Amino acid sequence: MNKLFDKIKNNVRLSLEDGMKLYDSNDLAALGQMADYVREKKNRNYTYFIVNRHVNYTNICVNRCKFCAFSCDPDDKNAYLMPIKDIIVKAGLAKKEGASEIHIVGGLHPDVPFDYYLEMMRELKATVPGMHIQAFTAVEIAHFAKISGLSVEKTLAGLAKAGLDSLPGGGAEIFDAQVRQSICEKKISGDEWLRIHETAHKMGMHSNATMLYGHKETPEQRVEHLLKLRALQDETNGFMAFIPLPFHPANTQMSETARTTGMDDLKTMAVSRIMLDNFPHIKSFWIMLGIKLAQVALHFGADDLDGTVEEEKITHSAGATTPESLTKDEIIALIKSAYRTPVERDTLYNKLKIY
Ligand code: SF4
Repeated sequence: MNKLFDKIKNNVRLSLEDGMKLYDSNDLAALGQMADYVREKKNRNYTYFIVNRHVNYTNICVNRCKFCAFSCDPDDKNAYLMPIKDIIVKAGLAKKEGASEIHIVGGLHPDVPFDYYLEMMRELKATVPGMHIQAFTAVEIAHFAKISGLSVEKTLAGLAKAGLDSLPGGGAEIFDAQVRQSICEKKISGDEWLRIHETAHKMGMHSNATMLYGHKETPEQRVEHLLKLRALQDETNGFMAFIPLPFHPANTQMSETARTTGMDDLKTMAVSRIMLDNFPHIKSFWIMLGIKLAQVALHFGADDLDGTVEEEKITHSAGATTPESLTKDEIIALIKSAYRTPVERDTLYNKLKIY
């Protein structure tokens, strides 16, 4: 471990083998120390958060990934598709409550035309003009390209013209083709996911990246996932944050899977911070990690506690016991009691207020 820490201090990039050594280590304190060194160097004592609102516009999805507890078929009694006017009302309320971002993701609806999504963007921009719209995972973008008959580039350009500002990081899951096939066979491949983000970055649009872990993947496949993201970031520099997402098995087709442990969650946070040397931010997503562990993760490489969220449906369908929102004051208190300086940010990490 000392040799790896020396490499980090001397800005020597870590290899796949180095990443595996980090995962093999049971010295959690040493891992945390290394990750914290990288975090401090990149982000000083700042811990970021955003006042935002999530909107999951439909749970109807043709993919039905095995790990997903949120999606359903169109004839399911819980199936819904939000009318655009309801999304506008939510965005308006969020604006009144001080939100700077609306975060919109949903399932792949079989019948909704591309116009619905364009209209959603246009209406949002017209009614809440200052609000940053972060919407549609690469998986949704690929679906829109398919239903519209447009290229990925033209699909993104159409959405950007209508009001889309940036892409969230969802849908990356795990890039390994075999594991991907066994947990989400209908989903776009890892390479397609990367290509869509590359296209967005080259058009000047920023995005985030995720990794779903704790299902069928090996530690090696996790490190390979991180290295693919690092390689794309070298090329485009378009990623803002990486968000490791522990798998929540309840109510999924993989409900027999054991939940990740706190050790694994903190280790994955630290390894992500150390390996992704070109990512400015690592996010501790409290919705999936749980509030207390998300706070501790601020000492394992994370410099961002995400946001106030409001009304998260995807992880809660999979049995998350966290609340669906935190107030700004609660987030500030969590960050301060972790001995960090809370910084309210916008989506692009401009500092709005330091507390
Ligand atoms: S994870 Fe996304 S693509 Fe897969 S079934 Fe759920 S909503 Fe659909």
